[in-house]
Amino acid sequence: MNFSDSELIATILTKQNFQFVDSADQAEVILINTCSIRDNAEQRIYKRVSELQHLRKKNKQLKIGIVGCMSERIDDEKMIEEGKINFLVGPDSYKNISNVIFQSENERVTDVLLSHTETYEDIVPEKLIEQGISAFVAIMRGCENFCAYCVVPYTRGKERSRPPESIILEIQSHIDKGVAEITLLGQNVNSYQFSNNLKIITFPLLLDELAGFFPHVRFRFATSHPKDLSDELLHIMAKHQNICKSIHLPMQSGSSAVLHRMNRKYSREWYLQRIDSIYEILPGCTISTDIITGFCGETHEDHLETISAMKYANFFHAFMFKYSERKGTAAAKTMDDDVSEEVKSERLTEIIAIQTQLSKKHNERDIGQVFEVLVEGVSKRNDLELMGRTTGNKVVIFEGDLKMYPPGSYAKVKIDECSSATLKGCVV
Ligand code: SF4
Repeated sequence: MNFSDSELIATILTKQNFQFVDSADQAEVILINTCSIRDNAEQRIYKRVSELQHLRKKNKQLKIGIVGCMSERIDDEKMIEEGKINFLVGPDSYKNISNVIFQSENERVTDVLLSHTETYEDIVPEKLIEQGISAFVAIMRGCENFCAYCVVPYTRGKERSRPPESIILEIQSHIDKGVAEITLLGQNVNSYQFSNNLKIITFPLLLDELAGFFPHVRFRFATSHPKDLSDELLHIMAKHQNICKSIHLPMQSGSSAVLHRMNRKYSREWYLQRIDSIYEILPGCTISTDIITGFCGETHEDHLETISAMKYANFFHAFMFKYSERKGTAAAKTMDDDVSEEVKSERLTEIIAIQTQLSKKHNERDIGQVFEVLVEGVSKRNDLELMGRTTGNKVVIFEGDLKMYPPGSYAKVKIDECSSATLKGCVV
């Protein structure tokens, strides 16, 4: 989402005659696009701002601004007061960014008002870098789920969905530049809902329309909330060969008691029933997840429930973190962060080891099978090998050259070996 926002900002500024330079020391304005989701992401931003201060000695006119989520959280504006940055621009104020930059000639400026309506539907973002075969398209913004540990509803505001016509325009512009795979993005992508005079377009309807309209493009989407993962959506995925059979479905915990405290709005049973539906309607679909370990009040039994749910769901991949309290969230205000760091670390180590085994076994089952691999380019480790992904989002390495399999083409690859992260095979 942040990368997509950087492209949005770049497009807005380019239209207003700003130019990009290759390095920070050539710049007159430096924008730092920020993410607040984890504390260490914020700490890295503070460090980066400090590191950039030496450039002010060379260029007294240099302006440094923070844009994105963190702008909403620097409530005491300490960095502005200390003169480390010149302005703050929130995620719904990007269209005003050039005014903020010019205004900051004379004063420190803050524009962090969150909107109920801004979707940037009238802007087709330009690519910042050579985009390769994949592109991200933000279809909705914001989140109203208020999970107890999460800052996103406070930094990104209410859910707003973009009109389908503007999504189609952006996808077409990517296709014109050679993109073969589109990932539809949203903080809560499957709660997408857009109403026009004729009907209400939900996420399954949108996906159905896009997959039919662009039959040669492969579609993915992220991130799905389990409460909004309907059977209707799974049937649409089954209907279209060009919708990837892979779902990222954050579980966070396998314990209903912890999920309740997290305000996740589903139980262990609901989550596992969604897993059953995925495997029933989409046999062979891969599922990845996010897990937080050591949330407030998590007991050893809760932790064991998470492990058993991981095994039941047979995730092929997981992002796993220790809980860390985020200022301003419901958990920070109303719950004790009462699982010790030592226990959090032990539990995290344990679930990482379990997931590594699950991933390895998942990949071992692919040995001997043939997959259609969308080629992305040359493998990073070996120039004689190519790298691509299956519909299940698994990375596949195989011998080949770009003349035969240029990026964006498909190769049929039989899998011969694997690690927990990668499949390896040869073209058949
Ligand atoms: S669904 Fe929950 S975790 Fe995800 S962005 Fe919204 S509040 Fe945060």
